[in-house]
Amino acid sequence: VNSGPYVSRRLLVVDDERIQRLIIARAVGNLGFVADAAASLDDALACLGDRAYDVVILDLSLGETDGISLLQALRDCGCDPVVIFISRLDDRIRIASMRLATAFGLRVAGSLHKPVAPAALRDMLLQTPPRPAAAPDRAVNVPTVEELTRAMHNNAIVTQFQPKVSLNDGAVVGMESLARWPRGGSAPVPPDVFIPLAERSGVIATLTFSVMRQALIACSQWRKTHPACSVAVNISPLVLTDPTLPDEIDRMLHETGLSPGALVAEITESTVIANPLAAAQILTRLRIKGISLSIDDFGTGHSSLLSLLRMPFSELKIDQSFTSQCETDPEAWKIVRATVSMARELGLSVVAEGIETNSVAERLRDIGCQTGQGWLFGRPMSEATLLAWLNEREPVTV
Ligand code: C2E
Ligand code: MG
Ligand code: MG
Repeated sequence: VNSGPYVSRRLLVVDDERIQRLIIARAVGNLGFVADAAASLDDALACLGDRAYDVVILDLSLGETDGISLLQALRDCGCDPVVIFISRLDDRIRIASMRLATAFGLRVAGSLHKPVAPAALRDMLLQTPPRPAAAPDRAVNVPTVEELTRAMHNNAIVTQFQPKVSLNDGAVVGMESLARWPRGGSAPVPPDVFIPLAERSGVIATLTFSVMRQALIACSQWRKTHPACSVAVNISPLVLTDPTLPDEIDRMLHETGLSPGALVAEITESTVIANPLAAAQILTRLRIKGISLSIDDFGTGHSSLLSLLRMPFSELKIDQSFTSQCETDPEAWKIVRATVSMARELGLSVVAEGIETNSVAERLRDIGCQTGQGWLFGRPMSEATLLAWLNEREPVTV
């Protein structure tokens, strides 16, 4: 759809109040939109069946029904319209609706209080979000179990490291190891694809031990110049119930000459912990040895309050979905603040993931979050790049 300045764009107002339909149609007409109006869900569905719309303005309360029932039709109509919500309901409901629409894959420009102020509507229309870049076609890229086991056998799965930095003084406090599968010729396979594959096919323990070995060897290198800098390894819950884990870790620590304090185990409940008692037992053994335990992606619904009670965690990582929204979504910010204060009550250190800007780093530091991780400080890097980065680096002070 050409949305250049000389082509009129088509907009649909869905509102059961006639006066609002008229006001909005007039306001957007002045901006070069051709507006249609629908008074009910059925009218709206008929319009969507007839025409392609660039923008849909949707009232959340439509008499007997609600605007949410239209989201599916908007997603399936094929014209990928920008959605603006209007409502007399409170902010929480409008924000929840925006989140829901985003989760449906719709582009949401924002929400406005009714009666709609034409100036506010104009501002929102002038900055409608761009169409997302076409999603990479994962279908062609999905590896098989055989390819994965071959890659592991050939040491083709490599480990990168991303710094964790003190928000108070900019010191590097540790690195997170992240598994990478670069495939010569084609695009790398994202960890969100091959980690679940490794979990399903029973090779996740082998993969984890391989990443851990690379991580501890690299850590023993950077410790020569940065003796307090730890290394974190992601551990799937499936590996937690592997009774060889504590001994395997002992052996690797011994081989690399590292103390247990150099290692952080990051646990995500990406899959249900089948045997929580066995997992808690292993985690407690690790903690007694002096290994730090981190609860990863806290707040995503995978990593739960229940695990905080059950397992002896020493660190909590706030998921990047909260960090990245904390300036634009008041609810996300409330959750971040509540999480930081709860962690402090429980004596856990807090790491915020996904920090991309200075202003987010400052906000987090001001509420007492000690540590940050994200592109602002450094992207995941190979061991060689990391060692150079560490040695050249001036501390970034927030
Ligand atoms: P995670 O442990 O939560 O790792 C953090 C993810 O956030 C990484 O994605 C990292 O590249 C990304 N990230 C860091 N800073 C930023 C930022 O500022 N902005 C944005 N947009 N992203 C940022 P990655 O490497 O794709 O890893 C995804 C997940 O895959 C990890 O999430 C972890 O759960 C899993 N994973 C990676 N390596 C391993 C592994 O060796 N074992 C296991 N079990 N899981 C792994
Ligand atoms: Mg992690
Ligand atoms: Mg995480």
